[in-house]
Amino acid sequence: MIRENIFKARERIPSQVIIVAVAKTRSAEEIKEAVGSGIDNIGENKVQEAIEKYNELKGCGIKWHMVGHLQTNKVKDAVKIFDLIQSVDSLHLALEIDKQAAKINKVQDVLIEVKTSPEATKSGLKTQEAAGIIKEINALKNINIKGLMTIAPAVAVPQDARPYFSSLKKLYDSINASPVIPALPAGRRSPLSILSMGMTDDFEVAIEEGSNMVRLGRAIFEG
Ligand SMILES: *Cc1c(COP(=O)(O)O)cnc(C)c1O
Repeated sequence: MIRENIFKARERIPSQVIIVAVAKTRSAEEIKEAVGSGIDNIGENKVQEAIEKYNELKGCGIKWHMVGHLQTNKVKDAVKIFDLIQSVDSLHLALEIDKQAAKINKVQDVLIEVKTSPEATKSGLKTQEAAGIIKEINALKNINIKGLMTIAPAVAVPQDARPYFSSLKKLYDSINASPVIPALPAGRRSPLSILSMGMTDDFEVAIEEGSNMVRLGRAIFEG
């Protein structure tokens, strides 16, 4: 079933769009099946759960993504296993990631999570704050911003999510066009290259709006 789901999803998704299979609550066995069907990016939303599966699946060549809210007291463990932390939503969190990554001589790749909808409960930086905080984070040595991520609110039909995706794409383009990125020291920073948006219910609309990384849970592990 996982295998067929992945083939079906791949048929609907352009090859340059990376699929992250979000495996929260799924077993290491299920992840293995996904990996055997061509998936190499796995997303998790809890550090402890991710560590257990990471240990079971060592040597499978998996790239691990943290997609859930990250508490500062979990950062020390998170930097040990995650290739990409997609949920950086404050300068405070970024400072801790920089500090813990430095201790293990790592430059941690991250995405900045942006709150594109006004829903008060969602984590993520406000669109207006993002560029300023990105500039501050870029001054840190052990953290590297690769792009932006958003979670669209639950909507009645996928089309209703379109404005949230287009507003993130706009921000992405404006950051890449502004001096925030290129003006940084030593040419160390490259422009943003990852735009992570779209989940099971809305990934097609997200891709139409410029997503190049979709995060699929149910589309891969259910049905
Ligand atoms: C669970 C989760 C997903 C995947 O959700 P589906 O709707 O099952 O595809 C994607 N992104 C984040 C941040 C998640 O927590």
